[in-house]
Amino acid sequence: MKHAIVGAGIGGLITALAFEKNNIAYQLFEKAPKLNEVGAGIWLAPNALQVLEYLGLFEEVKRKGNTIDQITLGKSDLSPLYDTRQNYVKDTLEYATIAIHRAELQKLLLEKIPPEKIHMGKEFNSFERLDTGKVKIKFADNTATEADFLIGADGIHSKVRKQLFPESSIRYSGQTCWRGVAAIELDKEYKNRGIELWGDQIRFGISKIAKNKVYWFAVVLDAPHLKDNKDRIHQKLLRLYADFHPIVGELISSTPVDKILRNDIIDLKPLDNWYNGSICLIGDAGHATTPNMGQGGAQAIEDAYYLSDLIKKQPNTNVFNLFQEKRKEKVSTIVQQSWTTGKMAHWKYGQGLRNFLLKNMPKKVLEKKMMKLYQIDKPM
Ligand SMILES: Cc1cc2nc3c(=O)[nH]c(=O)nc-3n(C[C@H](O)[C@H](O)[C@H](O)COP(=O)(O)OP(=O)(O)OC[C@H]3O[C@@H](n4cnc5c(N)ncnc54)[C@H](O)[C@@H]3O)c2cc1C
Repeated sequence: MKHAIVGAGIGGLITALAFEKNNIAYQLFEKAPKLNEVGAGIWLAPNALQVLEYLGLFEEVKRKGNTIDQITLGKSDLSPLYDTRQNYVKDTLEYATIAIHRAELQKLLLEKIPPEKIHMGKEFNSFERLDTGKVKIKFADNTATEADFLIGADGIHSKVRKQLFPESSIRYSGQTCWRGVAAIELDKEYKNRGIELWGDQIRFGISKIAKNKVYWFAVVLDAPHLKDNKDRIHQKLLRLYADFHPIVGELISSTPVDKILRNDIIDLKPLDNWYNGSICLIGDAGHATTPNMGQGGAQAIEDAYYLSDLIKKQPNTNVFNLFQEKRKEKVSTIVQQSWTTGKMAHWKYGQGLRNFLLKNMPKKVLEKKMMKLYQIDKPM
């Protein structure tokens, strides 16, 4: 086998599809026995959408998701601090943002992979470098396989990374996040808007992802690793967000408690390298970022795009150094900016100054930054 991809999340699935398009041999291994229905939404920014277009998936994603062409950063009462129509992005790149249910996205990606190339219920355990130059990949079920190259796409808690770079570490941002999908319809004016409301050290995000489906997230400062008492979760969230716009309470109340997810907001302390020899990390496994810029998935998607392009151009060469060279600067900037944005959103002091700066931020400066973030090299 030429390439073994470990992990069929967004990064692993898009890598497999990009390899498929470019006739690059691969096999994909996923530990879950079947697709995990993650009950939350995801925003796919224009950089991710351009890759999906390249793979012929854009129209389907657009149909199954909801277009977001206005982004509002507001106060808890929904009055805007910063509000932008995404016309300039749409006009230049031809894409806005699409919000979609994660399970819907994963399902449509998975369906496109030839069944003989994907192996569900295969949990990666460890690797061994062989004298032949190949890598032996060992699974939890005591089976093993060999490949020329191993691509670790196994997410933020990557086992491939833990063996490759045992010194790597996860950072807790001090924030925890609840997510849910409510079965309600938003007023017309909010239907194509991505909204994030900043209150007193607390924030709430809202976006429609499909007909009668609204994705929301709630972020607060808290200690890590805490668990919820499911019976009291509605009460707790309603109390925390009591002084927010009434739509917030409505979203929380209309989401069944067993469908509310909780995750601590973490990222990966930046690594010096994402590869060693014939083993390389992509997506969250190599550079997990906090979700404040909605770019973690998009960066995993960009990884897949550039890696497949480099392999296509130099099929018999190890391109991992070129891949890292191509990607590192943009990814590092995002990880850093996202971390800072998260901190700023929860400032205890200086909220007035923060809000003033946001309100008066020159549009041109922001637009230029966004364009840089959303641009990718044209398909080669
Ligand atoms: C609250 C929150 C909101 C977010 N919102 C956005 C957003 O709006 N837009 C955006 O672009 N990004 C967003 N992200 C980030 C995004 O979810 C991740 O960056 C993205 O899922 C990373 O994809 P991945 O394929 O690298 O990893 P994952 O999606 O984590 O996939 C890893 C896969 O590997 C499998 N796996 C794990 N261990 C093994 C093993 N040992 N053997 C085999 N398989 C294994 C897992 O089962 C999984 O299928 C958000 C993240 C969070 C936490």
